[in-house]
Amino acid sequence: MKVLKFGGTSVGSSENIKKVTQIVKSKSENTSVTLVVSAVGGITDKLMNASNKAIQKDIEYKFDFDLIRNQHSEIMKKLLEGVSLTNTKELVFEKLNELEKLLEGIYLVNELSSQTTDKLLSFGELISSLIIFEYMQQQGLNVQLKNSQNLIVTDSNFTNAKVQFEETNENIINYFNTNNKMITILPGFISKSETGEITTLGRGGSDYTAAIIAAALNAEALEIWTDVSGMYTTNPKLVKQARPIAELSYLEAIELSHFGAKVLYPPAVLPVLTKNIPIKIKNTLAPEDPGTSITNKVKNGQNNPIKGISNVNDITLLTLQGNGMVGIPGFSKRLFETLANEKINIIITTQASSEHSICVGVTDSDAQTAKHAIDKEFENEISLHKIDPIVLESKLSIVAVIGDRMKNHQ
Ligand code: ASP
Ligand code: MG
Repeated sequence: MKVLKFGGTSVGSSENIKKVTQIVKSKSENTSVTLVVSAVGGITDKLMNASNKAIQKDIEYKFDFDLIRNQHSEIMKKLLEGVSLTNTKELVFEKLNELEKLLEGIYLVNELSSQTTDKLLSFGELISSLIIFEYMQQQGLNVQLKNSQNLIVTDSNFTNAKVQFEETNENIINYFNTNNKMITILPGFISKSETGEITTLGRGGSDYTAAIIAAALNAEALEIWTDVSGMYTTNPKLVKQARPIAELSYLEAIELSHFGAKVLYPPAVLPVLTKNIPIKIKNTLAPEDPGTSITNKVKNGQNNPIKGISNVNDITLLTLQGNGMVGIPGFSKRLFETLANEKINIIITTQASSEHSICVGVTDSDAQTAKHAIDKEFENEISLHKIDPIVLESKLSIVAVIGDRMKNHQ
């Protein structure tokens, strides 16, 4: 059994959905295929835009809603015909009506909880999976549709919910034990809390859905189908010589995706990593391209262990320094704790071996909050001139050179 995940662009037009269907059809001749799909490309952002306008009492939200409706209508019209078109339209318009009512509600009360945000965002994947299912069925494929909200159970941390793995794995195994069509379609990204509320797994979460299912079923492979031919040696938008990497280890892939490559959502690889399930990154628009294979095998040459170079922009470096820190335990604990209390994520950190300074990298948007909190925490030491007020350097980038076995390499 293989799990295939198709992203927003792959399901973003009728032509691409036809390509997806071809790929799935040929795979399903040899093995059963579980298909996890994103919302139609751009829809999740449009849902956010519409709701942001609605909260601000901006009637223009109706314009965004029309875009959402038209985009889906267009795809259905080009993809389906006859009874299949009529039936699918009816089902999709029912969902769109629900969505329209929800937006109207947000417009009237001018507020949006994270719980309602999840309800709103869930429409993207619910509708895309429905359309693709109807099309594959019309094409005569042996296919079933399952709402992943009835399989994936989470806590109630709306918009970024944590998966309850025990219950989730049990649900997935039970479902697939009793349902054995060659192809199963599931919407990515969406889930339900233990108390039955709609939750989501965080932006880009469809990869995660696919990995959870692949791990629960011990799939032979997880394939992430996207609109580029794999993970690149560096950002192809910035460097024209960038090219796809044929093979990566899990850790190299996590580092590359953490530091810029948007193809893979880092937490997504974790469930398959523990089970040693290989991941492939493939291009729906160029399926013959080899793509990138990600496994637990470290395969880099002795001469050149470097697999890629990545970058994260909009970083601020905070430097805490002073003679009063040297040889005294507890400064870094207080620094990190202060940032943790402010819910600020640290992206990179170093300490001079002299212990005279500690540097931490945070996003530019967290910089001012971080400075205030740290200066306050060390108010006393600063007034005694034991340490200096925190120094900020903004608009920096982190550049990372990535490859296994580099630490003993000159
Ligand atoms: N549709 C969601 C998003 O855009 C999830 C996904 O596509 O992975 O974030
Ligand atoms: Mg994605």
